[in-house]
Formats: sequence, structure tokens, C-alpha cells
Amino acid sequence: MPDRGASGANLAHPLSEDGPWTAASNGCPCEFLFVDLMDIEQAGYQAIDRICDYYISLRDMPVTSQVEPGYLRKLLPASAPTVGEDFQVIADDYQKYIIPGLTHWQHPSFFAYFPAACTFESILGELYASSTTNPGFNWSVSPACTELEAVVMDWTAQILGLDKSFYNTTEVGGGVLQATACDAALVATVAARLRYIREHPQVPMEKLILYTTTQTHSLGKKAGLVLGLKVRALQVTAEDEFALRGETLEVALKEDVDAGLHPFILIATVGTTSSGAVDRLDEITDIVKNYPFLWLHVDAAWAGVALVCPEYREACQLPAINSYTDSFCTNFHKWGLIHFDGSCFWVRHRTYLTDALDVTPEYLRSKHGDAGTAIDYRNWNLNLSRRFRSLKFWFVLRSRGTEGFQKHITDCIKLNDQFAQGIRESDQFSFVAKPFLALTVFRLAPKSLSHLTTPELNALNRIFHARLAARNDIAVTQTELNGVFCIRMVTGAERTVAKDIDRALVVIGEEGKVALTEWKRMQAEVGLYCLP
Ligand SMILES: *Cc1c(COP(=O)(O)O)cnc(C)c1O
Repeated sequence: MPDRGASGANLAHPLSEDGPWTAASNGCPCEFLFVDLMDIEQAGYQAIDRICDYYISLRDMPVTSQVEPGYLRKLLPASAPTVGEDFQVIADDYQKYIIPGLTHWQHPSFFAYFPAACTFESILGELYASSTTNPGFNWSVSPACTELEAVVMDWTAQILGLDKSFYNTTEVGGGVLQATACDAALVATVAARLRYIREHPQVPMEKLILYTTTQTHSLGKKAGLVLGLKVRALQVTAEDEFALRGETLEVALKEDVDAGLHPFILIATVGTTSSGAVDRLDEITDIVKNYPFLWLHVDAAWAGVALVCPEYREACQLPAINSYTDSFCTNFHKWGLIHFDGSCFWVRHRTYLTDALDVTPEYLRSKHGDAGTAIDYRNWNLNLSRRFRSLKFWFVLRSRGTEGFQKHITDCIKLNDQFAQGIRESDQFSFVAKPFLALTVFRLAPKSLSHLTTPELNALNRIFHARLAARNDIAVTQTELNGVFCIRMVTGAERTVAKDIDRALVVIGEEGKVALTEWKRMQAEVGLYCLP
């Protein structure tokens, strides 16, 4: 066994004087880089050691990178080396030049955007998958890749409580791994368009219209852009907690149909990015029943993983998802302990996907594909070649078990409850949306200044946010909800514990006080506000 040492940094140099790493010293007449297995082992042990050290020291590192744009180009040579370099130097340069330019999404004080939970089992799955790298586009080019994906998609459907009609075993519906929720929405839109045009062959494309809400992730607009489709964002209100109501949908459908337009898909959301809103699928499905060719796609990119806990299924509208939705997507690469990328996408009728996306030139034909006896996942997504993503799913699902996933979700929600309680009890802050799962949206709104208008509070909160953003020991994100500028705080990193939340509350409280003083000073300077 090579000497691994307590810390990767102490590792003996894997390359001896006459080591075979470089073209210059390997004695190989062809001058190609020759990598000896012993060296791979040593460099591999070192990489694993260093990754472990990274996780151990994460808490003491800054959360956000503080480098300036262009920092890396200044540090690196203008071109790649002509002669291969010593791997140890390369590995050390990663530590020296790349790590300082990273924001640490696994950091216990990372509360920004959405979680990007990662586990060691997932990393190892990736390592094995990359070691046999293959583009897995057809069943026949690597049967295990397709078969494992079909199995883990059924396993994940089961742990989330999805209806059996989404399982691959039905051979009617089924699940597929996409890179992102954006891909899933785009593919759903392509399938929905095919279904609609099939039923309404006389309708010109320019009369089709895709529905989102004003709170839908940009994936809706993107799908419209890519496919050249009209997009209508339906209004949602703060009184409805930013959720789409059935009535709003019904009015829009009537208006557009009367105007000669053809709404053919609604992209609804369970857990919107800004506020965690859950569209009222119970009401929406009642309306959609009268418009049978309106495809209902549910984007639950962040929140969907919470379905693993039966106690959150009602709040996440699972009964409506199961009874009616045409397609459903959730990203395990956000809150689901599997590192990027791994977006789970299920459809009730796979043929709309495969009919819309199947292009089979002679060189892609295979015995099993022709006979229809095997899934060819290339026809379930936009690309041909596919990464072997299911291996990391298999590793994590087995290693954690359903209970492990449930514990991760409930732990994160407990931490968010703790944070929300701090906001509730403070006379400095108030909620802008109801805390949901692991997300709290709040703003600085001191009780003593209850007379402030929305623009004044927005100005105050911009100062508050700028102060938080300038710190490198905490990461949160800002957003705007129907004109209200506010802060989003999301828990989800596996290493976050109660004391990190306490600390976050202290930091937020302190910055809130300073922001208020700064704001008052600015107001006094322009004579609008008298300092008490
Ligand atoms: C994060 C998020 C997305 C985007 O996910 P990608 O996988 O990056 O495309 C879409 N919708 C919601 C609700 C999200 O939270």
C-alpha cells in the first residue's frame, strides 16, 4: 500500500526520478504519455485524501470565492504545454489556483440559490462511471447503462410516492434522467406539441401558446424561445401565496381560445424558485380536464425530493400529480444527495416523447431497437450520447436507503424551522412568503418603522443584501416578489447543523442593524429622514 499519510499534502511524491509519467522519462520511443498503474493508484489515493481533507476543512473556509473576473487567466500560461507535465504539479495547481476560485456549495453556511447536495457515494459512482466512460445512447451499446437507469427511475418514483403509471415497468409511462430541469421542460414541451398537433393537424404553429406563471422558473420562457412558441405568464398574487389558482387558468384559457389561440401546455410548479410557492394543482387539474389536450408538466426541481417524506405529500400536491399530470420533474442534484447532474423526468405516455424525438439513421439501428424490446434512451431526450448517471443514483439510493433520504429532508426542514422561528421572534425582520420546507423568504422591516413604504423598504433591503453579499462567511440570495425586494435563505447542505443557523441569525441581525443605520444616514443626508 502506498503511504497515504494523515493529510494528502504529506503524500510522498508519486513520481520517482525515473518515473514513467512524462514523455521525457518514460523511455517510450513514441513519446506518448505513459501512465503506470502504480502511479494512478498513488495519485488516486492522494485525490481521495485531498477530497476528504476538503470536506473536513470546509467549515473553516470562506463560503464564497472573492476572486476578481479574469483572475485565472493571469495565473495560467497562454497555451497548453507541448510536453506532458508531472501529474503532482497538476494536482497541486488545482489546490493552488482552482479552489480559491470556487464558491463552496457544500459549505455549512451556504444558504443561497438552492442546495447542491453531494455525497461520497455519489462521487464514487461518478468515478466508476467515468472509468468505463461510454455514450450509452442505445440499449445495445452498453445494456447496463440503460437497464440501471430504467430501474433507478422506478426506485425513485417509488420513494417519492409517484403513481405506478410513471414506472418503466408499465412499458407505457416511464422515467428518464435528464441533465437539468430545463431539459426536462423543453422535452415535455416538444412531446406536448406533438400530441396537440396530432389531434389538431390544421393548427399552425404560430397559434400555439405555452402557459407558465409569473413565478415559473426561466425554463418556461427558454422552452418558448428555443421552440419559437408564444409564451403567456399567468398572474399570481401575494394573497394566494404566489400560487397559480384554477380560476386564473380558466379565464386565460377562455380568453385565448376565444382569440383563436391554442394553449397546449401548462408548466406548473411545486416549489417556485423565488418563494417556494406550490401551484394549486388540485384546482388546476379540475380545469385541465375540460381541455384534454393541454399537457400538464409539473416542475418540482427543488421541492420535489421532499415527497420522499409522506408527511409533505399533501402540501406538495402529490394526489393531483398522481391523478392527472402528464409529466413530472424533480432534480436529485439539488436537494437529493446526488451531485450534479441528475434531473429525474417521468411521463405518463412515453410514446409522445419517442415519437417526437426518434430519429434513427441506419447506423443507429439495432436488433433490439427495431424489435422494440429495449428502451433506447436517446429518443427520450434531445442529445444522442448520454452520461452514465444512474450509477451514482444506485449507489446513493442503496447506501442511504429511503430512511436516509427522509432523514436528510427532515433535518433540513428542522433547520429551516429554526431559522424561521428566529425571524418570527425578531422585531427587525418579517416574512415575505410563508416559510416552506427548507426555504424562508424574509426582509428587513423593523417594527419601529412600520410607516415605511415598499420603495423605502426595498432601498433599505438592497443595502442589507449588499452587506450580506460582501461577506464571505455566509451565502444567501436576493429576489423580488411582486415588487418586494427580499432575501431567500435555503438550507440543504449535508453539513449544516443548528449552530450554523444560530450563527446565520446573528450575522443577519448584525448586518440588519448596520444596514438600518446606513440607510438612516443616507436619508438624513437628503433631508428625508431625521435621525432620532
Ligand atoms: C433550480 C430550478 C430550476 C432549474 O433547474 P436546472 O436543473 O438547473 O434546469 C427549475 N425550476 C425550479 C423550480 C428550480 O428550483
